[in-house]
Amino acid sequence: MSNIQGKVVIILGASSGIGEATTKKLAQEGAKLVIAARREDRLKALVETLPDAEISYAVADVTKKEEVQAVVELAVKKYGHVDVLYNNAGIMPTAPISEARFDEWRQVLDLNIMGVLNGIAAVLPVMKKQQSGQIIATDSILGHVVTPGYAVYCGTKFAVRAIMEGLRQEERENNIRSTLISPGMVDTELYTTVNDPATSNWIKENAKIPGVGLKASDVADAVAYAISTPDTVAVSEIMIRPTKQVL
Ligand code: NDP
Repeated sequence: MSNIQGKVVIILGASSGIGEATTKKLAQEGAKLVIAARREDRLKALVETLPDAEISYAVADVTKKEEVQAVVELAVKKYGHVDVLYNNAGIMPTAPISEARFDEWRQVLDLNIMGVLNGIAAVLPVMKKQQSGQIIATDSILGHVVTPGYAVYCGTKFAVRAIMEGLRQEERENNIRSTLISPGMVDTELYTTVNDPATSNWIKENAKIPGVGLKASDVADAVAYAISTPDTVAVSEIMIRPTKQVL
């Protein structure tokens, strides 16, 4: 039997792209799911495509810690415990630093970094009490390398990598596994969060090309693998690129 069957999994940022594909994959594998994001219509439609799954949804903005806390409480109330928290919500505004886009900087730091910390803070007391659990975050190849125009986004993903490694070291004695998923370009709706039209359009068109962009389901398979290993085996990080990606 798969080590996913029956596990209680929370996915933050589940309404599209990688989060949606992971919801479908884990539902297929028999996980009990609590999914969240801001767009209720998309969450509801996703749940309706999975009539045989044990799944519920909650509307939550990950930048609001009370809303993230409420999602964890919903899972605990329903199932009594939480096996996995997947911090996946993120955006990718791009621009040279010289443009000094303060509002965008604040927004991406708040979502990509504080969103992850809000998730960790909400679930950690539950997992410490259980003396078991797994916290996963979607990082990026851009959490390992930097490229012009993406410096601030890269900064958020470098930060997530540092936080997840610190979490691993601090919580390993509590049997809490920490896993970083670092994909290259994936064909999702992330391009809609890129404000520069030329870059947004380039990503939209190129991410669809096999070998240039991954499918969201390719990343979902990696997440499922990290969950499926025995509880004594911590998959700390998976880097997954489309074959033709340079960086
Ligand atoms: P999508 O835009 O398709 O999905 C992003 C998800 O995050 C949506 O479910 C969205 O839901 C949710 N989200 C955004 N803002 C918030 C918020 N404030 N509160 C709660 N949820 C929020 O893109 P991806 O699937 O590509 O993105 C998922 C993750 O993968 C991100 O962290 C991204 O940085 C990372 N990544 C993506 C890559 C790519 O090339 N696509 C490559 C490497 C990493 P809603 O709008 O309904 O709230």
